[in-house]
Amino acid sequence: MRQAGRHFLQIPGPSAVPDRILKAIGQQTIDHRGPDFAEVGLKALNGMKTIFKTEQNVFIFPSSGTGAWEAALVNTCSPGDKLLMFETGHFATLWNKMARKIGLEPEFIEGDWRGGAEPDRIEARLRADTAHEIKAVCVVHNETSTGSVSPVAEVRKAIDAAGHPALLMVDTISGLASIDFRFDEWGVDVCVSGSQKGLMLPPGLSFNAVSERAMEHAKSVTMPRSYWDWHDMVGPNQSGYFPYTPGTNLLYGLNEAIDMLHEEGLDNVFARHARHGAATREAVRTWGLEVLCARQGQESGVLTAVMVPEGCSADAFRATTLKHYDISLGNGLSKVADKVFRIGHLGDFNDLMLMATLSGVEMGLAMAGIPHESGGAQAAMQYLKETTNQRLAAE
Ligand SMILES: *Cc1c(COP(=O)(O)O)cnc(C)c1O
Repeated sequence: MRQAGRHFLQIPGPSAVPDRILKAIGQQTIDHRGPDFAEVGLKALNGMKTIFKTEQNVFIFPSSGTGAWEAALVNTCSPGDKLLMFETGHFATLWNKMARKIGLEPEFIEGDWRGGAEPDRIEARLRADTAHEIKAVCVVHNETSTGSVSPVAEVRKAIDAAGHPALLMVDTISGLASIDFRFDEWGVDVCVSGSQKGLMLPPGLSFNAVSERAMEHAKSVTMPRSYWDWHDMVGPNQSGYFPYTPGTNLLYGLNEAIDMLHEEGLDNVFARHARHGAATREAVRTWGLEVLCARQGQESGVLTAVMVPEGCSADAFRATTLKHYDISLGNGLSKVADKVFRIGHLGDFNDLMLMATLSGVEMGLAMAGIPHESGGAQAAMQYLKETTNQRLAAE
């Protein structure tokens, strides 16, 4: 039966696509080798450099984010290479599994899924690797399964403090364009991202930002690769073209997204996400529930993972909430399946959308019989009233 009103897609990616981007994507497809395409390609490639904050290389693949994970590994490794990865949650675990599947030897620093990667533990492990067998350190910037942010700049400092030559690879699939990220300044070597989270696009594009050092490295490593080969991209990319058919219509959308992000101002975008994260945590605390991220200062502005009380089913709660209030919330993944639900507050999102979202959650908690205190949405509203929207404050 028809449901009136709009569906709330509050999972932490894909995020709802703004009308401007839908309209851009709806333009007629053009010849990706014709003269008009160069402008589209160059705008996307150069525009993404401003989002990654890099003057080095950016590559765009027609794939989900998982493809860019693979691209990062096969361009920088030889079979059997050792990697150091940090278990921040489900996505770090999947990247680790992928590395194993394709013949690498990732070592996993165990984590409790309640915070970001820990630079001191990375440094200690690298110091012990006196033979420099570890070729790369891989961390997830915004761990979408837990709502925790890793201190990427501190991880680089840890690698340098250990005097270790390992490359730094970062998954910022869900962090980019929502949480501050500075590829060049932070000394990242390879970065992985995707279109369907902070970039507000549908799924289907993935990205690698790559340092000159990693490009050099790619020339001598021997993992078999073809589709993902950075060096095959470089030549065509210089004039705005690609070695195979790019995601033409998604690139129209990407160019619109890049414009929108700069029109708002990246710092304002980051402040908006941080404020919505803080307001959401006010609501969770008032409900008497616990936020999964337990490290103060590492809570994500992209999503909030909320633990349900022992004996309650987070999935039954989500199903009830979807049925009655037409809102999709994120599920708990693997280790925390059915124990947490995730509230996405990323992308093209404002105060009233957050209030509607939190109202839906609070009504859903009551409807599903999850023990909680009421007034969480009210507390979030109070927080929003007391804090200024940075963009407006700047006007
Ligand atoms: C979404 C996500 C992925 C997976 O991306 P796909 O587009 O589903 O392949 C990987 N890592 C993180 C941190 C993510 O948020």
